[in-house]
Amino acid sequence: MKQTNISIFIPHIGCPHRCSFCDQKSISGEQKAPRGGDVAKLLEEQAQHLRERGMTAEIAFFGGSFTAIPEGYMTELLEAADAAVKRYPEVYCGIRCSTRPDCISAEILDRLKGYGMTAIELGAQSMSDEVLAANHRGHSAEDVRRASQLIRSSGIELGLQMMTGLYRDSREAVLHTMREFIALSPKTVRIYPTVILDGTELGRLYKSGEYTTFSFEETADLCAVLLREFTDSGIAVIRMGLHASPEVEKAMLGGVYHPAFREICESRIFLEDIKKEIILLEKGSYIIYTDPKNISRATGQKRCNISALEQLGYRVSVKPLAGEYIRISKIN
Ligand code: SF4
Repeated sequence: MKQTNISIFIPHIGCPHRCSFCDQKSISGEQKAPRGGDVAKLLEEQAQHLRERGMTAEIAFFGGSFTAIPEGYMTELLEAADAAVKRYPEVYCGIRCSTRPDCISAEILDRLKGYGMTAIELGAQSMSDEVLAANHRGHSAEDVRRASQLIRSSGIELGLQMMTGLYRDSREAVLHTMREFIALSPKTVRIYPTVILDGTELGRLYKSGEYTTFSFEETADLCAVLLREFTDSGIAVIRMGLHASPEVEKAMLGGVYHPAFREICESRIFLEDIKKEIILLEKGSYIIYTDPKNISRATGQKRCNISALEQLGYRVSVKPLAGEYIRISKIN
């Protein structure tokens, strides 16, 4: 049965932090904070749709800092979600939220567990204290380690979120973050290349010429490494890049934002894997067979993988073969 998320955005009104990349206005100013009754109504409506489509869903409280909102309000939202899971167990299979690493304690976890919370995602962003401080995150890498351990030992699923290309970030710092994440054994990871928004500290630094983020090429290469390493470590990468949104497109000054970003990274991994095998063969014309689901990854956006192989002296065409990853056959 197919699974989805019913996402409920909880704006963090009055957040005391000033993260360099965050546009507080679009995060908290224009979004209405839903009440428990709104959540109950939405979940009741969605239960019907999900049932008709034969799908299950997790109820996802997103917005960055779920455990930092006032306790009474958090309880109201959790009660509505918990009641929906109990009322429609055939469609709602859990509750997840995202929060800051310094907003987790054993007491908070007990309360979340009591309402059936199944997964918590921490907005870690980086495991470099220098990058965290330069971007005014207001927490340390040690906070991420401590919160991750607490979540894992509570039995709640752990998810970690990271960014690439923040102020003072480097390829080495990103790879360090990746290694630290792998050591913390999350179930899921989300990777967000930095998008520089007008009205943010990063926007100010960018306009002054003091900061620029990684180029698209650097980011895609780096994120392809992250995708491969996390996947090989048994960690599911459940998101790469921001969701398409007119607000982001309007406020974007620079950075990396592409609706097919994950596919671009997957296609780079594919090219590397083809190269490893084809390089052992004499130059010439070949057919690369792969499962139909891999065809566009094998070919690459605008046939970029085909062009890259041609530059190495290999003229290739890609053909479907069910169940195959890469099988290379010479054309005589
Ligand atoms: S990203 Fe940072 S500044 Fe923005 S709401 Fe979250 S904690 Fe507050």
